[in-house]
Amino acid sequence: MKQLFAAIPGVDKCKQSLLAQDPSLQNMSSELLRILITQYWDNYRQKIKSGQITSITELELQHHLPNLLRFVQKGQKPRFKKVLNATGIVIHTNMGRSVLSHAAQQAVQLAAANYSNLELDLSTGLRGSRYALVEHLLAQVTGAEAGLVVNNNAAAVLLLLDTFCAGSEVIVSRGELVEIGGSFRIPAVMSKTGAILREVGTTNRTHLEDYAAAITPQTKALMRVHTSNYRIIGFHSRVPLEDLAKLAAERGLLLLEDLGSGSLVHFDINGLDEPTVQETVRYADVVTFSGDKVLGGPQAGLLVGKAALIQKLKANQLTRALRCDKLCLAALEATLRCYLDQQGAKAEVPTLAGITVKPWDLAGQSSRLARGFTQALEGKCEVSVRDAVSRVGGGAFPQADLPTSLVCLQPTKVSAAELKAKLLSTEPPVLGYLDQDAFCLDPRTLAEADYPLLFQAIMQAFAELEAAHS
Ligand SMILES: *Cc1c(COP(=O)(O)O)cnc(C)c1O
Repeated sequence: MKQLFAAIPGVDKCKQSLLAQDPSLQNMSSELLRILITQYWDNYRQKIKSGQITSITELELQHHLPNLLRFVQKGQKPRFKKVLNATGIVIHTNMGRSVLSHAAQQAVQLAAANYSNLELDLSTGLRGSRYALVEHLLAQVTGAEAGLVVNNNAAAVLLLLDTFCAGSEVIVSRGELVEIGGSFRIPAVMSKTGAILREVGTTNRTHLEDYAAAITPQTKALMRVHTSNYRIIGFHSRVPLEDLAKLAAERGLLLLEDLGSGSLVHFDINGLDEPTVQETVRYADVVTFSGDKVLGGPQAGLLVGKAALIQKLKANQLTRALRCDKLCLAALEATLRCYLDQQGAKAEVPTLAGITVKPWDLAGQSSRLARGFTQALEGKCEVSVRDAVSRVGGGAFPQADLPTSLVCLQPTKVSAAELKAKLLSTEPPVLGYLDQDAFCLDPRTLAEADYPLLFQAIMQAFAELEAAHS
């Protein structure tokens, strides 16, 4: 074993061979290069210890050089990468949900590169509140008396229940005991805050009388949760918010609503629409929603509602722990500003633009892409265009079919599944999906400015697949 350890090539020797292979590594810090080389061989030290490597020839540098080079080249790049979303899912949680508007991108840049008035009141020069930066705007675009921003909507719900309902009962319909991806469950969040869940009604039907009958002296609030990622269809009913508001007012209770992917604008997707934040906050005392779902801004949790209640939320010690940072606030302000003009917002906020783009525009884009691929991949791949539907994602409009037009690639020598897998490691990675025997790209979530990158990645994938097969 001693001999094996001694046979591991030295760092300097590796460095020399790597630089001969790729002179651009000269620009890399030599310390980082040393660390990466050591990391690469650490893996083999483990293998020697566990008896997986038993001969010196397995450790020859010549033999390892291509792998070592790839390891070093990869290690020098950031792990956080741009990827091309060709899934057509506009709000894709695995790919960072919303792409920010141009104005929001600039605001982030400004906040990142400079000192700012984050907690500075410029009218007095004294300490101010970070929440004041967006509160007025938030109230203006939602019609609420006041608002507060925290780290995400899960934090908003936690803060809400902790502030008003700890140790008290909260009534929720059995049809709304939601689990969101990443295991955010309403009943679990409640028990974390010490709020006591009182389930009422049935999975498919809950009536006003169910809520009324469950009220006890310990009840503090009625709560509605947006059934974000699923729908109950068929024989079902839900109590209108207006009626719940009346009941809550009569019995001196709070009416709280977790809207999930709250929207500030109406969409008409084949007749499907969801209540906006503005409509909800007219009846509910406090409404929470996400910043990076349909709103199209940064990750944030927004709470809007009655001023006295928002004041209590701010005073909760948890607020400090759940606060959002300056980059988020900068992006959020710029995003909310877009909504001062609702039609303008649909053009400027990429998430809204992605949801509302016209089917004929998508058809034009997919035929343009298809022409390009047909030319570039002649003999390697069948290219076609197919009608299909895309999804909003992010738990918004789960039933809405957005008509779209896909570009479908059917490689002749390898399977579509192999192409899909290969595209995870191209530069940049491309995420699409399999439909029948084709790998499909939905232009809805692709920026036209990225088409050259898309071509580059697809060509790289075909070249590497062919090299592996020949
Ligand atoms: C998405 C969602 C959440 C969680 O929001 P995050 O911003 O992801 O923390 C909570 N409740 C509902 C109803 C949701 O749809």
